[in-house]
Amino acid sequence: LVSRELHPHDSLVAVGGASFGGNRFGLIAGPCAVETEDQLLASAQAAKAAGARVLRAGAYKPRTSPYAFQGHGPEALELLAQVGRAVGLPVVTEVIESGDVELVARHADALQVGARNMQNFALLKAVGAAGKPVILKRGMSARIEDLLLAAEYVLAAGNDQLILCERGIRTFETATRNTLDLAAVPVLKAKTHLPVIVDPSHGTGRRDLVAPMALAAAAAGADGLMVEVHVDPPTALSDGPQSLYPDQMIALGKQLGAVLGVL
Ligand code: PEP
Ligand code: MN
Repeated sequence: LVSRELHPHDSLVAVGGASFGGNRFGLIAGPCAVETEDQLLASAQAAKAAGARVLRAGAYKPRTSPYAFQGHGPEALELLAQVGRAVGLPVVTEVIESGDVELVARHADALQVGARNMQNFALLKAVGAAGKPVILKRGMSARIEDLLLAAEYVLAAGNDQLILCERGIRTFETATRNTLDLAAVPVLKAKTHLPVIVDPSHGTGRRDLVAPMALAAAAAGADGLMVEVHVDPPTALSDGPQSLYPDQMIALGKQLGAVLGVL
């Protein structure tokens, strides 16, 4: 179902009024996590000012350490929906358990399956049946073929509104948090009709590398980006070091416009 052989034309996936795929490029931006109303609103305003078409923020955070901030859960879902309406952007947020899919789907315009859950097959089937667009992130140790087979689970469950996301993989390199595999973009686009976006924030783990990798992703043919922005990164409860400051987010939005304009 994901193969381009049987479905040669690019699929277009809509999240609220934003479109991904074909020649439609979409910017998704927002903080790693919903922290407070003020934090989320100010970060969302920066995302909007940068040209983002979808607001992102986590309510359930799949953290490597059980002692790290786990997200504010249901309250955060309410806040995200409210701030999305306030700034006029559809929202995407991660779901980490099949049992939460219905609740998250009631609050979000799209469901994110994170890298750590790329092969949580029960979750893939559940989001496949949820009737909302899905953003599926590549597992940190997943081959491109594994990502495509994970996507196949969602389509096989009846949901073809799926966006793939390259977010970096584990390699021997330690200069960056993950190794962003930009070659995955043209490889995926040759193999599948599904839209492919890139997350340069988790892909590098470093604020200074987010803009160059975002621009490179656009030049490589990505159908969109997911970028973390925080109103005050040093105080962020998660992923502060890779979160753009609002002015950097707005500058990146302008640079993206220029790059996409010449492509
Ligand atoms: C996220 O988008 O905040 C996230 C946890 O990403 P990943 O699943 O790619 O680590
Ligand atoms: Mn994050």
